Amino acid sequence: MRFTLPRDIYYGSGAIEQLKNLKGKRAIIVLGGGSMKKFGFVDKVIEYLKEAGIETRLFENVEPDPSVETVMKGAAAMREFEPDWIISIGGGSPIDAAKAMWVFYEYPDLTFEDIVQPFSMPTLRNKARFIAIPSTSGTATEVTAFSVITDNEKGVKYPLADYNITPDIAIVDPDLAQTMPKQLVAHTGMDALTHAIEAYVSTANSPFTDPLAIKAIQMIFEHLLNSYEGDKNAREQMHYAQCLAGMAFTNALLGIVHSMAHKTGAAFSTGHIPHGCANAIYLPYVIKFNKKCAMKRYADIARSIGIDGSDEECVKVLCEKIDELNKKLGIPKTLKEFGINEQEFKEKVSNIAKLAVGDACTGSNPRPITPEEMERLLTCAYYGYEVDF
Ligand code: FE
Repeated sequence: MRFTLPRDIYYGSGAIEQLKNLKGKRAIIVLGGGSMKKFGFVDKVIEYLKEAGIETRLFENVEPDPSVETVMKGAAAMREFEPDWIISIGGGSPIDAAKAMWVFYEYPDLTFEDIVQPFSMPTLRNKARFIAIPSTSGTATEVTAFSVITDNEKGVKYPLADYNITPDIAIVDPDLAQTMPKQLVAHTGMDALTHAIEAYVSTANSPFTDPLAIKAIQMIFEHLLNSYEGDKNAREQMHYAQCLAGMAFTNALLGIVHSMAHKTGAAFSTGHIPHGCANAIYLPYVIKFNKKCAMKRYADIARSIGIDGSDEECVKVLCEKIDELNKKLGIPKTLKEFGINEQEFKEKVSNIAKLAVGDACTGSNPRPITPEEMERLLTCAYYGYEVDF
């Protein structure tokens, strides 16, 4: 068994100033669509690196759901510039993309097929080390061993997983998260809550991951709503809470809330379901399904946020609390309410159920699930039916 995290996590308002103390020659800075530039953070980063005597080059415009082409372009830019630091700033996408670029920078002859097998990557850090600076409070990719890259040609997503791509340094500076629009706060916050809850009940949970998951859950219940409403301190606390959740799930893995979100996010022509929003919708349904095998663990979670009673009562109230939180965050209770067309749902649900059972996150779910049960569960989440099987 193994527990792996970045060697350093710098946190606090203004923490990006730590870049002044970096030792190295050249840093490539990998960015998304431009908001980090617009808010002045990229200029600051370049300035701090200049003070450290480090030459910089930008790789910009990594798209949402980053593609194989973008990754290969970035890797080529790295081979040309030869950075000894890769610094990625932004939401999940530029950081995920930069992780994959890093692999192909160090090993130009590899292909995605070579590295898609979990925990099969060759040793990195022969050419560069990696810094991640997140601007959203959810994916926690700054501390995880994961990256998702999309092959548009083949229409598949490569979920990469290997402790080699766990960043060396995470800079969790809440100033960057203050720029998030309200709905992004809601969705990413519920993604983080799902990470912590799934990590706590996962079959791979451990004494090393439990305290991180529980603390994250407590902080999210305390701060998410206020963060959504614009409270600056709450926004800061959420930035740390999602990081703790990431430290838990990169080591304890996830469960079928994520399996369902992965396979439904882009499945319907009637609307792309944002990752965190999909998780938020499925979470209470999955708890009701999983409780047969994980009642005690869910009751622990409930008690950690001040709910009491029997295990059964605790879990019931926990689900009600999640429903209530979703409601206040403007998240629908069902796929139907989200706007997914009923006819299309009926046509696709059986195939989606099979794909979800085959998702990489299903293996660590506390209760095994068949494609037939998955279809029933998705149907409950579509119509809002009670999960009683
Ligand atoms: Fe997630």
